[in-house]
Amino acid sequence: MKWIKLLANLGYGSRRQVTALFDEERVTDAAGEPLPPEARVDYACVRIDGEPLDPPPGTVILLNKPVGYTCSTKDPGRIVYDLLPSRFRVRDPLMSPIGRLDRDTSGLLLFTDDGQFLHRVISPKAKVTKVYEVVLAQDLRGDEAATFAGGELMLDSETTPLLPVPMTVLGPRQARLTLMEGRYHQVRRMFAAVGNHVEQLARLSIGGLTLGDLPAGEWRVLGDADRAAIF
Ligand code: URA
Repeated sequence: MKWIKLLANLGYGSRRQVTALFDEERVTDAAGEPLPPEARVDYACVRIDGEPLDPPPGTVILLNKPVGYTCSTKDPGRIVYDLLPSRFRVRDPLMSPIGRLDRDTSGLLLFTDDGQFLHRVISPKAKVTKVYEVVLAQDLRGDEAATFAGGELMLDSETTPLLPVPMTVLGPRQARLTLMEGRYHQVRRMFAAVGNHVEQLARLSIGGLTLGDLPAGEWRVLGDADRAAIF
């Protein structure tokens, strides 16, 4: 019974469909021996049609998000779930993005089905830094870094000012920003507030976790060391 509920929650089908997988002997151990639904075996030993199971509950995954994909399950266009195994969008709990990226933002995007972990990463109280690089439509004026670091910038339709955002100028139209919160379209709205426009935006890191050599459009499961690097 335990396995039927777990496999259904992982998106392998309804409980009835998962029961049928057992009846058809498609759920086996690593040696190909059929398993009963009540089998007491390690997660890593279970196969379905010879394939290891998807990452277990409590997983965190890292995606190098390309531009052009929305962080939604419903958008009619391309969505980040198109880049993940199809079962990920029907898992229960869902593998949700940890701090969404806009359709036209690329870079480091985490997903998890662990609500507590998600909250630890995005809560401003946790002070986990998110580093972004921007390319702007117009040259920087020179006063933006002071404005963003001041901790008094109020974005349109917000009721509290932004936390201070350190900014490093990388070129006349390029900068790197370090955020500790993630308000809606925050970086784009910050530059709109100082009369500029973001042409390209990429998230480079969350805490001490970077993309490393993960190619655009690819994903991987985070190990314990990766998870520790975030905090
Ligand atoms: N700020 C934005 O404006 N967009 C993002 O995707 C992330 C941060």
